[in-house]
Amino acid sequence: MPPIRQLPPSVVNKIAAGEVIERPASVVKELVENSLDAGAARIDVSVEQGGTELVRVVDDGGGIPPDELLLAVASHATSKLTTADDLFRVRTLGFRGEALASIAEVSRFTLRSRAAERPDGAELEVVAGQPADVVPCGCPQGTAIEVRNLFFNTPVRRKFLRSVQTEMGHVSEVVTRLSLAHPRVHFTLRHNARTVYDLAPNDDWLERIAGFFGRDLSGDLIWVENRDGDIHLRGFVGRPNLSRPNARMQYLFLNGRSIRDRSLAHALGEAYRGLLLTGRFPVAFLCFEVPPDQVDVNVHPTKLEVRFQDGGRLYSQLLGTLRTKFLTTDLTHRIDAGGAAGAAVSANPAQAVDPERAAELRRELVEWAKGQVAAWAPAQPAGGNTAQPANGNTAQPVGGSAVLAVERGGASEPARQTRFDLTPPSPSGEPLRLSPIFGRPMTARAVPDEPASTAAVEFDPSSGAGTTVAGTMVRPAQAIAALQIHNRYLVAESDEGVVVIDQHALHERILYEQFRTSALAGALESQHLLVPEPVDLSGPESAAVLQRRELLARLGIKVEPFGGDTVLVSSYPAMLAGTHPAELLRDLVGRLLDAGREPERRDLLDELLHMFACKAAVKAGDHLTSGEIAALLEQRHLAQDTHHCPHGRPTALVFTRDELDKQFKRT
Ligand code: ADP
Ligand code: MG
Repeated sequence: MPPIRQLPPSVVNKIAAGEVIERPASVVKELVENSLDAGAARIDVSVEQGGTELVRVVDDGGGIPPDELLLAVASHATSKLTTADDLFRVRTLGFRGEALASIAEVSRFTLRSRAAERPDGAELEVVAGQPADVVPCGCPQGTAIEVRNLFFNTPVRRKFLRSVQTEMGHVSEVVTRLSLAHPRVHFTLRHNARTVYDLAPNDDWLERIAGFFGRDLSGDLIWVENRDGDIHLRGFVGRPNLSRPNARMQYLFLNGRSIRDRSLAHALGEAYRGLLLTGRFPVAFLCFEVPPDQVDVNVHPTKLEVRFQDGGRLYSQLLGTLRTKFLTTDLTHRIDAGGAAGAAVSANPAQAVDPERAAELRRELVEWAKGQVAAWAPAQPAGGNTAQPANGNTAQPVGGSAVLAVERGGASEPARQTRFDLTPPSPSGEPLRLSPIFGRPMTARAVPDEPASTAAVEFDPSSGAGTTVAGTMVRPAQAIAALQIHNRYLVAESDEGVVVIDQHALHERILYEQFRTSALAGALESQHLLVPEPVDLSGPESAAVLQRRELLARLGIKVEPFGGDTVLVSSYPAMLAGTHPAELLRDLVGRLLDAGREPERRDLLDELLHMFACKAAVKAGDHLTSGEIAALLEQRHLAQDTHHCPHGRPTALVFTRDELDKQFKRT
């Protein structure tokens, strides 16, 4: 091996450039960040050929005095840090003092600047890291930097550049992020002399968002805000209908810096669980203000990633804030006959929850999301209740709420659950009879309903759907009117128009919320089997089941080894009264095996609760009596989030009266 040598500065700078300057967009980012740090009120960015030929950034900030120009382009020279301690309370976007040196090393670079208090400015040219003399020049206050022929002296890097269009895409993304983070700064972006953006300074963040993404999108955003001690979170999240196939429309900002953060992105996804179809991502624009000493921004060369001192706290705060917000927001789909996205929807008073309850729910949800379900009370262990009432029921009322008696058609199977705490107390105090819902054997058949995508239910007045009047018209005391059509949908009048409800999806959602609430309270009812049922499984299956015994017990399923690969089911969830224990266990096994070795516990629990809800809910094709329809509709307002079934399909669609009037040419 050759002897060890100190690398010359130009090589050091080229190496640094490799880390920080990957493409023209990186140059734009570094220069604009410098302009922001210099307190600019206006920043003009122009690029040619996607920035490969020219990047020019002009600002009206504080400028650089002539005698500091050379230092500005020297490596590890900065005006933003003085001591190492400063590193841990960074308030500026830059602090490494590397950017200008790196850029100047791999381009033809011109810096022109006039400091605020100086009568005239100075100019410095650097070609491939070689500075010329500083010369005086006349220029407006602020700094103008031009970067030409990026990577001209590092051909290998230049070869990595993509098409003009791709590079321009990156540049535009960088400008988007920076100007979203700084709405009070006037930004312009020009490409090959064409104006791409001209964003006037704005105090209203929504205006800037609309400037980039249009009013259709900005109109469908929900404001969220929360302050927890010295951490302030605020911003906008999209209604579920705005979802995207990837996370690219999630803009996270930390102290004015656009960041990427897997944990926060996860919290975001978690908050929308059940509101979005699998594989869809929410839209979000969120700002976090965190005291600088609680975050390390020096962990990533381009500072795209940061490290929080207490990431868990931010995670909980984000998740809790969003969930609380969703509980008090009406997220029902609006169908706009014109095809455009629905207008912003005001909060529905029927959905409002009192602040105390919201805070409590928030705590529960956060615990739930953090997987702290150990807080579950072991209050009602599976099969623990062996007292046998005369009719053979073993279940007991739970959760402290009044019991709705649900009578099975003929309680002839003594080992089967026949009563279940289905709902919060009904306003009338009258037990509602929902017998057919639980009155037939539940088989593990697939849910036969098609996904009720918005596209599939576009309002078409000519389709004649309204003429199918084979359903039951109900007008119970609560003045809920609903028509069941095709044994599948409920059509009801609402204050604002007409609601079409997917009966299975809604019931499933209601049950899911109830099961989850019970599960959180440790009160999921269990049904003790008089004769435990042996179930033959494969080796891996029985291992998976026995490994998860404790989790299953919390869901009301008690299993024991029974020799070989057979397991014995001695109790199972009360709400799945009609399901055959062996069938249930086989279904569960599938989920357990799919879940892999150590799936996050909350995911698995959640999935199992979904599965239970789906099994226990009325199906598409079930004829409902007027009482059942009324009960379902009534519960709709009692359940926490009835807008989407747990799989994320919408449970209800609204045709507003305005839209109907428009369609019928009444307006
Ligand atoms: P850093 O931003 O990490 O300090 P840079 O290499 O990006 O390092 O910039 C070096 C120094 O040059 C900055 O600390 C700042 O003092 C000065 N500077 C760079 N760009 C500007 C600008 N647009 N306006 C005023 N000063 C600037
Ligand atoms: Mg900088």
